Amino acid sequence: MRHAIALVVILVFALSSPVQAQEQSFNAWLGDLRADARSKGISAATLEAALTGLEPIPRVIELDRRQPEFTWTFRKYQEKLVNDQRIKTAKKKLAANAKLLNEIGKKYGIHPRFLVAFWGLETDFGRLAEGYFPTIAALATLAHDGRRSKFFRAQLLAALKIIDQGHISVERMKGSWAGAMGHFQFIPTTFDAYATDYDGDGKIDIWGNQADAYASAANFLTKSGWKDDEIWGREVVLPDGFDFNLAHMKVKKTLAQWQAMGVRKVGGVKLPRVDMQASIVAPAGAQGPAFLIYGNFRTIMVWNRSIFYALAVGQLADRMVGRAKFTTLGPKGGRGLSHAEGKDLQQRLTDMGFDTGGVDGIVGAKSREAIRKFQRAAGLVPDGHPSMDMFERIRKGL
Ligand code: CA
Repeated sequence: MRHAIALVVILVFALSSPVQAQEQSFNAWLGDLRADARSKGISAATLEAALTGLEPIPRVIELDRRQPEFTWTFRKYQEKLVNDQRIKTAKKKLAANAKLLNEIGKKYGIHPRFLVAFWGLETDFGRLAEGYFPTIAALATLAHDGRRSKFFRAQLLAALKIIDQGHISVERMKGSWAGAMGHFQFIPTTFDAYATDYDGDGKIDIWGNQADAYASAANFLTKSGWKDDEIWGREVVLPDGFDFNLAHMKVKKTLAQWQAMGVRKVGGVKLPRVDMQASIVAPAGAQGPAFLIYGNFRTIMVWNRSIFYALAVGQLADRMVGRAKFTTLGPKGGRGLSHAEGKDLQQRLTDMGFDTGGVDGIVGAKSREAIRKFQRAAGLVPDGHPSMDMFERIRKGL
């Protein structure tokens, strides 16, 4: 019996004291934040409405710490995001909102199909525009948490400013767990810089007003360098023996230069004779499709830094107006590396003297560069693709 009581005491102590400590420190932190926001010109009334009784959301921390079990292959990513159902819905949405989309598309210089593609990928054409998490509480949770506090504090202050300007109430300001809001999932600083009151009612409503939402997305893209007279890029066929060192966002050549090297449109057709710079990307490695990408592709990557995402935007935009399907999505079956395998891969490459820019399990640009160097040294095709085959090869020291 005594033993049991002691155990209960230990349990209660173990469960309650860290939680209490954190609550206190959250409230103390919130006090500082409130003073900071006040000094930056946010009204006392807004701060009272937004911050009184605010509590951190444990689920937000969970989601921030979560590691996906496996990364998706290019094939899986495209099949999930640009499937027949989504293309069908995109066509309907493009037609149903044609008048408004054409008007906004013309004003900002961006074809409506691209706006609809972003809309589809971000919130399934507005179906998820209202959001689940209260933005202020979610951002306060992440700003108080140590991991990326500087970034999220800036987002929180921008979110308070949006409320203070009267665009939305505290209650209606909802979004993703990480503070992305409305039809196009703008974070507060993006809202602050680019969101637009298109219908002129004095409020920028990216949650409930499609005109404001479309115009805000269009404004972001135009200000980020979108060129209405260019496409995003296209799938191409590479010549036999193509040097995969050149399949890299950093390598830019004119279309004439790529043409001279044997790069062709799908079907073997010559590249257009226009004076443009382009790069080649091979998102599934040498065994998958290759794409010639232009300036607009780089602008899509200002929105989201993923090549997979940018290709999903391009493909969805093309497909909804009847343009060609990608001829291949790369090898079938298989899977991407897990987080642990990614770490293992990075550690092994680092041990072999190839710099992966750290061992964090996220196989980004530096890790891909390290894979290319390994492949070159081993006499393999240097596509930098972190396939399971490549991982097995490195693991076995081949
Ligand atoms: Ca408005």
